[in-house]
Amino acid sequence: MDKNKIKKIIYMDYAATTPVAIEVKKEMEKYWSKIYGNPSSLHSLGRMAREAIDNARSRIAKILNCGTDEVIFTAGGTESDNLAIFGVAHKYKDYGKHIIVSKIEHHAILRPCEVLEKEGFEITYLDIDKDGIVNLEKLAKSLRKDTILVSIMYANNEIGTIQPISEIAKIISDFKFRMQNERKTLPLFHTDACQAAGFLDLNVKNLGVDLMTLNGSKIYGPKQIAILYKKSGVKLEPLIYGGGQEFNLRSGTENLPLIVGLAKALELVEKNKKFEVKRLTKLRDYFIKKILKLIPQSILNGHAIKRLPNNINVSILGVEGESVILMLDDYGICASTGSACNSKSLEPSHVIMALGKAEAKEIAHSSIRFTLGKFTNKKEINYVLKVLPGIIERLRSISAITAKK
Ligand SMILES: *Cc1c(COP(=O)(O)O)cnc(C)c1O
Repeated sequence: MDKNKIKKIIYMDYAATTPVAIEVKKEMEKYWSKIYGNPSSLHSLGRMAREAIDNARSRIAKILNCGTDEVIFTAGGTESDNLAIFGVAHKYKDYGKHIIVSKIEHHAILRPCEVLEKEGFEITYLDIDKDGIVNLEKLAKSLRKDTILVSIMYANNEIGTIQPISEIAKIISDFKFRMQNERKTLPLFHTDACQAAGFLDLNVKNLGVDLMTLNGSKIYGPKQIAILYKKSGVKLEPLIYGGGQEFNLRSGTENLPLIVGLAKALELVEKNKKFEVKRLTKLRDYFIKKILKLIPQSILNGHAIKRLPNNINVSILGVEGESVILMLDDYGICASTGSACNSKSLEPSHVIMALGKAEAKEIAHSSIRFTLGKFTNKKEINYVLKVLPGIIERLRSISAITAKK
């Protein structure tokens, strides 16, 4: 980045991760070197640590409207997702080996499913419609006697699409009711709520889920800390064995500062949710409208309304998403692209490919994601709107020249 060109960073990549809130840092502070006891120790320092964990757990349980014994701390969203998928699969494999997920799940869900396929499980990858919403009819038809788990994300990390979680829960519970004679508890329903946590309802009773993942990294909390909500009565096979912490489901000395930080972060986003959703929705819609107007041949990816208030994902045809991101970076603007690039291959985003549009590959390679957050304001958006058209024009004229050669 050219230091002379910019005065400050304009961060529009809040879906990748968020800065840790000052209040969160402050709350964590004393648990590094003052109250550092092992929560399993019987002495006073250990008991103080135990109390702090219990307190954090009950504050989180209150927000999720669940019991304290239903909140499991793990070391991140990826681990919670893995625990949900492998935990259910390995615990309930004698009842069936069929699992249903959507095609647009995070890799923390899809990769474990690929591993399970090698173990002999059968995975149904559900289609989404052109706006990115899971097809509920297909979901209902995919449920089988041997289905042990359905995992559908609450909101997508790339295109921000919000799935109808409580409707999906209803379809699953209706199916269970019909199957009642054989099995009461299966299939279980997990949702990955990492992206949703800052904006949507987290009441697990309203949602009707058995398992739910949410992490600190996306809600102004620390990274490498998350919870897996697990409805009481649901069994899981652990991923990690040892001292039996976290109800025997996640052994290892608890990471007290991060746990305390997660509780504070969740309380803060919960408190500001209503206001932030309203504020960001307005900014999002302004941003989308302007981009589509200012830049010819640009299209919105994902649903226009059923999307996270902070997500803008557009494809600008004829340019590579990566090139746009790098040029935006020259202006201090941090955005993202769906297509994960490594030195050998340019893999198009599985999410945008799943939208099933004509020219899907081109749309995927030209996609850019701006995700807004608590420090985003209209001035920042206007700045991006000022520089973006010029960047696109330059990139398009470069590719026109190379095409002629
Ligand atoms: C970020 C994210 C994850 C992974 O969480 P980590 O805490 O980075 O391991 C999983 N699912 C979704 C939807 C995410 O956005």
